[in-house]
Order: sequence, then C-alpha cells, then structure tokens
Amino acid sequence: MVRYLCLRCKREFDASQLAIMMSVRCPYCGYRVIMKARGEGIKVVKAI
Ligand SMILES: [Zn+2]
Repeated sequence: MVRYLCLRCKREFDASQLAIMMSVRCPYCGYRVIMKARGEGIKVVKAI
C-alpha cells in the first residue's frame, strides 16, 4: 500500500483516498504538496 503524508496538516492517507479526489492533493485540507511515503524512501510530490 502506498501511503502519503500531507506537508501542511501532517495527516497520512493512502492511494485509494487520492483516487477519490481525482488529483494529487490532501483529502483533509486540500493542500497540493504531499510526500509519498513508500517503504524506506520518501519522495515529495508536487501537483501542477
Ligand atoms: Zn493536509
């Protein structure tokens, strides 16, 4: 399971919650800069 972390509200969510939004943004606060926390690596994902 791929998990994401919002850089603003620091809440975690998973890819299925992202799919509902149809875009890369936090389902809680709508912030568009999130971190992808997958396994050991953490990667910053920025929506255009
Ligand atoms: Zn957020």
